[in-house]
Amino acid sequence: MPTENHNSALDNLNFDNRFIRELPGDPEPDNFRRQVYAACYSRVNPTPAQQPRLVAYSKEVAEDLGLSAEICESDDFCQVFAGSRLAKGMEAYAMCYGGHQFGHWAGQLGDGRAINLGEVLNQRKQRYTLQLKGAGVTPYSRSADGLAVLRSSIREFLCSEAMHHLGVPTTRALSVILTGKQVVRDMFYDGNPQMEPSAVVCRVAPSFVRFGSFQIFTARDDIDSLKKLVDYTIRTDFPELGEPSIPVYLDWFKQVCRKTAEMIVHWQRVGFVHGVMNTDNMSILGLTIDYGPYGWLENYDPDWTPNTTDAQGRRYRFGNQAKIAYWNLVQLANALYPLIMRAESLQQALSAYTETFDAGWQAMMAAKLGLTMFEPGEDETLVNDLTQLMQAAETDMTLFYRQLADIDVSAEANSPAQFLALLQRTSYEPLSDDIMEQATRWFAIYCLRSQRDGRLALERSSAMNEVNPKYVLRNYLAQLAIDQAEQGDFSLVQELLEVLRHPYADQADKQSFAAKRPDWAKQRAGCSMLSCSS
Ligand code: AMP
Ligand code: MG
Repeated sequence: MPTENHNSALDNLNFDNRFIRELPGDPEPDNFRRQVYAACYSRVNPTPAQQPRLVAYSKEVAEDLGLSAEICESDDFCQVFAGSRLAKGMEAYAMCYGGHQFGHWAGQLGDGRAINLGEVLNQRKQRYTLQLKGAGVTPYSRSADGLAVLRSSIREFLCSEAMHHLGVPTTRALSVILTGKQVVRDMFYDGNPQMEPSAVVCRVAPSFVRFGSFQIFTARDDIDSLKKLVDYTIRTDFPELGEPSIPVYLDWFKQVCRKTAEMIVHWQRVGFVHGVMNTDNMSILGLTIDYGPYGWLENYDPDWTPNTTDAQGRRYRFGNQAKIAYWNLVQLANALYPLIMRAESLQQALSAYTETFDAGWQAMMAAKLGLTMFEPGEDETLVNDLTQLMQAAETDMTLFYRQLADIDVSAEANSPAQFLALLQRTSYEPLSDDIMEQATRWFAIYCLRSQRDGRLALERSSAMNEVNPKYVLRNYLAQLAIDQAEQGDFSLVQELLEVLRHPYADQADKQSFAAKRPDWAKQRAGCSMLSCSS
């Protein structure tokens, strides 16, 4: 049992634990693995950490919660956010949900290693659920140990903060703390188990409810609980929609479709591949959630997935994310059907996804290319030709778009040399004659199109630099930070966190973080290949 002592600054957080107060809970107080029916959560305490040690914390998240640097660097912070002590007002519980994994219904999943500590109301009356990931077993742990290794915890911590600063909707992370306990993991499920340090991340979001939170009730024909959760979610997270009713359910579902579409447009903009878009990993708020075997595109390749568990079907590859999000929304629509009973209306609501995605994608691609608007037809060809070129040349997506801002597209410049040099410098392979020819043709069309668009050079480049990041959490950078952290040196984790706070700024002294992937990283575990083992 975590202990309680009431004289730390963390005991002054203002908790208002609405989720467990208003929704049905599991009456079973003991912590053993089981099927949990007619309940949104089970009460369960974190397992105290043996020897907690702070790796890093996010100062913006801390500030949002009203926590000073002094509190975050205190021993008590480490104790509380490693799961060793419940501060005043915390009530710990794990959430029940199900989900489709890789296209198949998987039944009850639930928070197998996540434990919520409650909901904080900050000074501005914003509601934040605090959740420990990796703090021990819960009724939903099935056969696993409820823990998380340091490598995956650092990856989640850094990436969720990086995504936030890139302007991508996401859950946040307050802290990452070593527990002092070693765990066994077989990273690639290939008979090579190793001991690894374990850690706990404190994740922060207005809500951790997932598509699968609704699906589990419909799958069990428990429409009463389904209605409770839907009504609760609308009242708590979508209050602007009004009191729950059938039309409001439909409006709400439309809103979820729109938010999901906006999130995917952002993923495509920055080159993020989630890697495990199962319906249990889809937030009802349209936030990027559950950072596992995710990755960032280096050489542009729509078929790429970092997840070796998905290497065969590549269901969750970069170029398939928009379709999968839609498929997941269809599953959510099916789950909501018993409350709404109008298939046609749900079908119509789903078109909000396609409309938002298409319009968002077009505006996003125009912005990446420095154009003020997207001309359907013509610009579609422009984008398709470019992405084919980038794929053939193995061009680094982030570097290419960022540096495209500096290319002179005026009639006076009139030379493809600077463009060919850009393409060569940002590509992983030498350009063939054929590619150079294609590139020359593409650049001529692009220049004419940009001239017609009529932006001044300076205006064009500064607008592009606001949508094309210079710094992303390159897979190998995260791995370097992990390698050092495993040796007890957290400085690179902290430095990366700092650099990624300003992904659109030039940061003259941090150029090395905006470089092409080095050759050694191409085939290294953790850099280009990841699995669900974490
Ligand atoms: P994921 O693929 O990480 O989204 O996880 C799918 C399900 O497995 C969720 O219910 C997780 O809570 C659970 N899970 C993953 N890893 C562990 C672990 N080490 N211990 C317990 N449950 C886990
Ligand atoms: Mg998950």
